[in-house]
Amino acid sequence: MANEHRDVIVVGGGIIGCLTAYFLARRGLKIALLEADAVGSHASGFAFGEMGVLEGAGIPDPLLEFSLWSMSRHHTLSMELKDVSGVDNQFQFGGRLKLAFNESEAASYQKQLEWQREVKDLDVTWLEPREVVEVEPQANPACLGGVYVQRAGAVEPYRLNLAAAQSAEKLGTEILSRRVTGLLTEGGRCLGVTFHEGQREGQREGRQVGRMEAGAVVLAMGPWSQEAAAWCGIDIPVTPLKGQILRLRETSKPILTSLHYGGSYVVTKPDGLTWAGTTEEEVGFNEDVTPEARDKIMGDLLKMAPALASAELVQQTACLRPLSADGLPIVGRVPGWQNLYIGTGAGRKGILWSTGMSQGLAELILDGSSQVPGLEALNPARFQRD
Ligand SMILES: Cc1cc2nc3c(=O)[nH]c(=O)nc-3n(C[C@H](O)[C@H](O)[C@H](O)COP(=O)(O)OP(=O)(O)OC[C@H]3O[C@@H](n4cnc5c(N)ncnc54)[C@H](O)[C@@H]3O)c2cc1C
Repeated sequence: MANEHRDVIVVGGGIIGCLTAYFLARRGLKIALLEADAVGSHASGFAFGEMGVLEGAGIPDPLLEFSLWSMSRHHTLSMELKDVSGVDNQFQFGGRLKLAFNESEAASYQKQLEWQREVKDLDVTWLEPREVVEVEPQANPACLGGVYVQRAGAVEPYRLNLAAAQSAEKLGTEILSRRVTGLLTEGGRCLGVTFHEGQREGQREGRQVGRMEAGAVVLAMGPWSQEAAAWCGIDIPVTPLKGQILRLRETSKPILTSLHYGGSYVVTKPDGLTWAGTTEEEVGFNEDVTPEARDKIMGDLLKMAPALASAELVQQTACLRPLSADGLPIVGRVPGWQNLYIGTGAGRKGILWSTGMSQGLAELILDGSSQVPGLEALNPARFQRD
């Protein structure tokens, strides 16, 4: 295997790596995807799965168009991946309600509505408290109103990651359990990677060290992207931002319109469980669940939907978002390298942005430019000092 040639090696089996592999394989390239743990075993498999196109980093400028394109691409991709892999990622358009509980929140949301209303196809309106509970009976009637998006996309993240991985495999991609440890290089060209067999931590003794060659390499290492800075000699300003989610069994009514407040959220998913999040914790590469996060999320949940006080906690998960220094994803060719690419740093929106980031990367590799709108704002060269 060591000398067998591939067109592209993708490092990382989260959603960015798997979708990039799929888009490249669909165009006939021979791909190897190397994953240190398991496909979808980190943030991409344990995210909430909503598509908040109207708020957060980069919205509206410079990423509104990119975000809208990414959401609409999820719609078509969901069917495409189901055809190829048989895995249904449960993409759907649904309602999303951002609640206000004081006058200053209501005023600031209504100010944002001035441009949000103009965004085509999302049907964004302001709802008074009475209308809020008509739309979502579980919402707290003590709210002062909310911003209602009628057509917000949502997906089941693990199924999306799995559908992308299995579709890539069906098109000939090899998915291998390998921890990449460095690059094989010659001047400004990347010739391939070096790797250890198997898992990330704790099993270094006696492991096989290998090398694999390819025409190009894509780094899609999520919050671990900074490890690659030493390999390619450029700064990759990405750090882990931990987030936790609770899955609850609720015996009364499901929450069909997702509720949002202050960075937290809740909705009942197609698996029948009600998912509530989240936290933003700067604690390095620690993926443990904590009672403090559970209590914080329950507090936010009860503010949004007080009737859920009796819901039974079924599962608590924690994972790490890859957060870039300016909050925007990092997508494109690595400065100073002819054939080394990177896709990372999507923070709280890597599921939404995965289509734009991955299709953009595939087009850059194959065509030298991309049709995905707004991709140029994500160029890794923006962090280079003169
Ligand atoms: C609680 C929470 C909720 C979220 N909710 C949403 C949401 O509702 N909507 C949304 O759009 N986004 C959401 N996100 C964000 C989203 O999950 C992430 O931005 C996205 O999953 C990042 O994908 P990735 O492929 O870049 O990284 P990852 O999923 O972390 O994948 C990177 C992969 O690379 C592998 N890897 C790393 N180093 C190596 C190496 N040396 N060799 C081989 N493999 C390696 C890792 O093992 C990992 O599997 C949420 C995140 C969290 C934490």
